[in-house]
Amino acid sequence: MEKTNLTGRIVTPGDADYEQARTNNTLNNPKFPKIIVFCQKKRDVLNALNWVKENNMPFRVRSGRHNYENYSLVDGGLVIDVSEMNTVSVDCKNMTAKIQAGADLGKVYNILWENGTTIPAGTESSVGLVGLTLGGGIGMLSRLYGLTCDNLLEIEIVVSNGHGKAKLIKANKNKNSDLFWVCCGGGGGNFGIVTSLKFKVHPISTVSIFSIIWEWEDFEAAFDAWQNWAINTDIKLTSEIELKSREVNQIIAQGEFVGPVTKLKELLRPLTETGSPIKVMVREVPYIEAVHFFDEPSGNVPAYKKRSGSFLNKTFPKRAILIMKSFLENTPNGKSSIWHQSLGGAVRRIRPDETAYYYRDAIIAQEYLANWSTPDEERKNNQWVEDLRNALLRYTTGDYVNWPDRFIRNWPTAYYGGNLNRLRVVKREYDPFNLFKFPQSIPPFISWF
Ligand SMILES: Cc1cc2nc3c(=O)[nH]c(=O)nc-3n(C[C@H](O)[C@H](O)[C@H](O)COP(=O)(O)OP(=O)(O)OC[C@H]3O[C@@H](n4cnc5c(N)ncnc54)[C@H](O)[C@@H]3O)c2cc1C
Repeated sequence: MEKTNLTGRIVTPGDADYEQARTNNTLNNPKFPKIIVFCQKKRDVLNALNWVKENNMPFRVRSGRHNYENYSLVDGGLVIDVSEMNTVSVDCKNMTAKIQAGADLGKVYNILWENGTTIPAGTESSVGLVGLTLGGGIGMLSRLYGLTCDNLLEIEIVVSNGHGKAKLIKANKNKNSDLFWVCCGGGGGNFGIVTSLKFKVHPISTVSIFSIIWEWEDFEAAFDAWQNWAINTDIKLTSEIELKSREVNQIIAQGEFVGPVTKLKELLRPLTETGSPIKVMVREVPYIEAVHFFDEPSGNVPAYKKRSGSFLNKTFPKRAILIMKSFLENTPNGKSSIWHQSLGGAVRRIRPDETAYYYRDAIIAQEYLANWSTPDEERKNNQWVEDLRNALLRYTTGDYVNWPDRFIRNWPTAYYGGNLNRLRVVKREYDPFNLFKFPQSIPPFISWF
């Protein structure tokens, strides 16, 4: 059989741009690939997958570079990077958008906005749409329009069942429907290389946003008020609350309401009347300004960090709130926090087995964040995150697969719950020889570890 050549923009360790090309958003766990191929067209993706098979080389798939454990990088192997395939086209007549797999959220939001539309997705503009969607996708429109993957209509994906050449296929609810099912919550790096995604889009014009800040003395009252309010309020309103370290002395609730500012002010009363907020901001803005408000450009600067997470099926009792408070009083440095986003609404309308994203009944997603400045601080920061996660375990469930954590021992069930077996069965069908493999990849049904 004729040998395949790698095609696209190729970067290797001797090249001036190698350092930039190999660096992801998380600086700890650095990896040193042998080759990085920036694919320019679908043929480059097909060639890359055939090439790794012929050369028996480990590989990973990459787009926005935001995986917390750097699972989109590999030492001594090939990184198949799709970020330079990133066009976005909107069909306003049919209210759909076709988006190449390399587009980041910033580009997607901007082009959809130019067409008066949007999709529910994440808050950080540099995150890759494809990685976010394949794991679910939560953000400020979740309660109204569901997860990002709930708005996915079709994908194009390069797969290889191990026999013969790699091929590009389509998957949707009718065609290769099991592959489409796994790509709505369990698809990141596990089954194939997605080259484009087609979404249902929603019309959008102005929205109302808010921000409320309390100080440490209102810690328990502010969190308790938020958790009881955020999950029961109007589903057009999705919100988040970040509990910062005692040193920083801020509890910040923010959110987005698809409706007028007068109505949002009314809806916010249970929060504004709690404790003594030091700042309350409520205003109506063009939707794209809300996108910028929730975006944190610093999220794109490579940094030392550790993240983990879980879901809440019930609101926290006082005891759990005090556990969080005590951890935030004793952080390795001031730069640690606990972040939450309200769920429910449209996310919950879908059954846990309808897509691979399992935690449909969760009311809140909870994320643990630690940041530091030099490599020698890593151990204590990792420890803080893991101790916090463990201390809250009896009040929480699972973890969001888009917040992977290599220290979670039962990660298959933590990420996929009751959907794990079906994911493994589909893996056997589309990747029986476990070509798409990384430390927390889904194992095919036949070779459970
Ligand atoms: C600063 C920051 C903010 C975030 N905000 C949010 C948020 O608001 N909401 C939310 O839900 N999540 C959020 N996340 C988590 C985010 O969804 C995940 O990190 C996501 O996996 C990132 O995708 P990526 O393409 O940027 O990353 P990558 O590291 O490139 O890829 C992530 C995973 O997807 C796989 N993958 C990449 N491209 C493809 C492809 N073409 N085909 C198949 N698999 C592929 C990779 O192999 C890897 O396993 C955030 C993360 C960060 C770091």
